[in-house]
Amino acid sequence: MSQRFILLGPPASGKGTQGRFLAGRLGLVFLSTGALLRSAVDAESDLGRAAAPILARHEYLPDSLMCPIMGEWLDQQRGGWVLDGFPRSLAQAEFLAERLAANGQSLTAAIVLEVPEGELLRRVRDRVECGDCRWSGRVADTLAGACPNCGGPALPRADDSEAGFFGRLAEYREHVLPVIDFYQRQGLLHRLDAASDASSAERRLLELLQISHGPQE
Ligand SMILES: [Zn+2]
Repeated sequence: MSQRFILLGPPASGKGTQGRFLAGRLGLVFLSTGALLRSAVDAESDLGRAAAPILARHEYLPDSLMCPIMGEWLDQQRGGWVLDGFPRSLAQAEFLAERLAANGQSLTAAIVLEVPEGELLRRVRDRVECGDCRWSGRVADTLAGACPNCGGPALPRADDSEAGFFGRLAEYREHVLPVIDFYQRQGLLHRLDAASDASSAERRLLELLQISHGPQE
């Protein structure tokens, strides 16, 4: 049976890192809606043109844009997946449940990454991206501010300004907390302490889902 996971959590809680880890471990497809939307903006597709001004204001896309995009993506998946960035509202969670049921599929678990606000802000301040090759990492990984990959300028990510962070945190509290309640009521929710480093969070994630710690076969 295919496994399907949703990762929830505030900005900079490490959803992308944990999502890629879990997908790699279980042989699932990983989809980050943030990466999907950024590439649509770069490609100047219809979606990208509609999304660009909303993303520039550090806001989430409305359900009227996200649901059709994700519905199309979900219908194309034959195997399991890990999703980062969807659902981001109660309406999106209900849409996902209906679409899965229509496809004869079900969700395995929803995992919420829990990190204190002070630690989230520290991570946001420490995160940089190369304008030339899109390398991303921490300030300490740069060569005196230059990209270790290509030597280009490593600068804070556009959506990582503090104003952007607090805007996204407010959006998260307003729209995603009801999604967490939704999965809690369905008995699908797992809470993951993701306050320390990524490898501790990965270990706890495997424990939470009762997946063997040994090397992958
Ligand atoms: Zn670079």
